[in-house]
Amino acid sequence: MRLRTYLFLSNLVSIGAILLSLFLIYQGMLLTWFEVMLLMAVTCIAALISVIVHAIVIRPIVRSVRNLSDSSEKMAQGDFAGEVPQVGPAEFKQLARQFNTMRAQLDHSIRTLRQSEASRKELVANISHDLRTPLASIQSYVEALQDRVITDEETFQRYLHTIQHETTRLSQLINDLFQLSRLDADAIAFQPVPYPIDTLIVDTLQSQSFLLESKGLNILTSIPDNLPPVQVMPFEIQRVLNNLLHNAIQYSPEEGCIQITAESLGSWIAIAVRDEGEGINLAEQERIFDRFYRMDKSRNRRSGGAGLGLAICKSILELHGGTITVESGKGGGSIFRITLPTAQEAAVI
Ligand code: ADP
Repeated sequence: MRLRTYLFLSNLVSIGAILLSLFLIYQGMLLTWFEVMLLMAVTCIAALISVIVHAIVIRPIVRSVRNLSDSSEKMAQGDFAGEVPQVGPAEFKQLARQFNTMRAQLDHSIRTLRQSEASRKELVANISHDLRTPLASIQSYVEALQDRVITDEETFQRYLHTIQHETTRLSQLINDLFQLSRLDADAIAFQPVPYPIDTLIVDTLQSQSFLLESKGLNILTSIPDNLPPVQVMPFEIQRVLNNLLHNAIQYSPEEGCIQITAESLGSWIAIAVRDEGEGINLAEQERIFDRFYRMDKSRNRRSGGAGLGLAICKSILELHGGTITVESGKGGGSIFRITLPTAQEAAVI
């Protein structure tokens, strides 16, 4: 039954009760027939006015309820656009306000869910592609070796070398994926220790010295003497620095220069790795920290990783409460900057 009908019936019942009482009063001879008729007429006029007033008063309430019901029907069909107008009495306006807040939150959650579903699908597709490509290559080379079609030693060694190269890439990819899933699942116990910055940087340079030399790159470092130690997990931060330096080497021109600087920013330490490479345009800068994002879209790379390096760096830095940013322009080299907490800041975190 509709709200209007409810109100109309309740009016009817109360008027009926009044008219019946008047009739009983007349029966009991308490009033004359004329007085009873007069009171009945007054009651009927009052009832008519009351019905009209009710109809006017409940109109905004009905409109408000109708708006809410239309909007919830649209939401049920997946349409979250448009706000419910706030009309009617204060309680209904508040209800419309709360409904709008709920609609906006639901809209946001559903968008986030759809986005994460899309990136999950992209992730699975990328993982499958990056696992399948080296595996297919290994398989074809092994088959060629098994079929004994290769007779000369040089080709034989070249095939073996390719198999070894692809196996290393595969194992690197699996290690990266394992590391990322551990970071995602909070499976790495965060146990930072005070550690000197210069040791971190020197160790990183030593581990990449072969690559640095083979490309004839110059290294400039600037590390003030009085920097306090950072409060970090050294192995993880070493990995971040290795990754940044490795990228800088990879994208630097032959005999270019790479600068590594460290500076104190209050209770944080900033480390920057600057190269003279091809640079990264603005649109790509937002995406390079995404998993599997590579600027070379072909994915048929002969060089470079799977696009997981910077994603791992970001997760490791987030674990430390730090940040990673890039400053770059097409053709103008890149500066990757990370911030790490000192022992003093870590005590606050
Ligand atoms: P990869 O393992 O492919 O290097 P990363 O996550 O380390 O993956 O980097 C993602 C992408 O960001 C790279 O494919 C590259 O296109 C770009 N990139 C990273 N570092 C640099 C750099 N120093 N100069 C230019 N481009 C870079």
